[in-house]
Amino acid sequence: MNEALDPLSALPIRDDLRGRSPYGAPMIDVPITLNVNENTHPMPQEVIDAITAEIATVARTLNRYPDREFTALREELADYLGHGLKPENIWAANGSNEVLQQLFQVFGGPGRSVMSFVPTYSMYPLLADGTNTRFIAGKRAPDFSLDATSAVTQIQKHRPNIVVLCSPNNPTGTGLGLDVIEAVYEAMQEHEGVTIVDEAYAEFAQDTSAHALTLLPNRPRLVVSRTMSKAFAFAGARLGYFAADPAIADAVRLVRLPYHLSSVTQAVAIAALRHREGLLANVQDIRTQRDRIVKTLKEYGLHPAVSDSNFIFFSGLRDEKEAWQWLLNDGILVRDNGIAGHLRVTAGTASETTAFLESLKKYLEHSGELPASC
Ligand code: PMP
Repeated sequence: MNEALDPLSALPIRDDLRGRSPYGAPMIDVPITLNVNENTHPMPQEVIDAITAEIATVARTLNRYPDREFTALREELADYLGHGLKPENIWAANGSNEVLQQLFQVFGGPGRSVMSFVPTYSMYPLLADGTNTRFIAGKRAPDFSLDATSAVTQIQKHRPNIVVLCSPNNPTGTGLGLDVIEAVYEAMQEHEGVTIVDEAYAEFAQDTSAHALTLLPNRPRLVVSRTMSKAFAFAGARLGYFAADPAIADAVRLVRLPYHLSSVTQAVAIAALRHREGLLANVQDIRTQRDRIVKTLKEYGLHPAVSDSNFIFFSGLRDEKEAWQWLLNDGILVRDNGIAGHLRVTAGTASETTAFLESLKKYLEHSGELPASC
């Protein structure tokens, strides 16, 4: 590409970043946004009031740097997670993207590698690029599932320094069995690698007890990453965190920027955690909307994957790009993950979900794909 077409080519950027593209989920201003797996339900007024009060209090302290160790926040997060976790097991940053970046900075880097199993969360290769860590794209079965034997065989072949297991997986939505996580951890132990389980959507799982926090005891190189962006409806506040052996949190201190979590972030996250009952009350309705989408898509003759998350990945479309555009014309933004015949949609409020299902039905009628029984 010449300079006029690619202005970056004139800059002395790192050679390994040349030709790369930044994260780019489309940001289009439409009435119904179901493309980035946000929590679309409105925040309860009592939580808005609590957050506003905290901001008023913290405003008086903004001349000072924040608590660099965010101790009160770590206490709240440990209390929320339970499982006997203590503040020293917890680390937090500005979104789980930053948490993952810090982990890649410490355990990856030049000459090292990170493996994940594609299709998976599109940020993993980008975070690998940014930290100069080689990304190894592990494979899944044709139905996008991943079993212990396949994962272990691939790990033994590549011996990555880090493996990231996304569970429930984005974009497919399905959770991993704990047997797979246990087997992967054992395989990583053989060469002293670090296993990260990204549980950004854990609270939406069909079986909420089957998560990797239960595996933390006696596994000092296991990290469970979580976020307040999804179930807590807190994506705009940017608060992600992990639970692990305290030594892992200590290691991350080597790369974090001093005072990386602002006083405002800490205060609003604490307020949200203290009002978690009200915030998490919407999770059940999101599950209901998700299950409704799965059921209706099947009636439409489409094939939704099992979803443990707040989104549904479905196949069976003859032309996913045309379907995506049809929905957009109706003011509904969903995600095209670049996988033929598939789209991904976030479970919305009841009325957003209805609008999506009705628009898609009209599209399938128009394209002649809707079963006669429907
Ligand atoms: N992990 C997964 C699997 C995700 O889908 C996302 C966001 N879409 C994240 C991590 C990052 O979320 P955040 O930085 O908002 O915590």
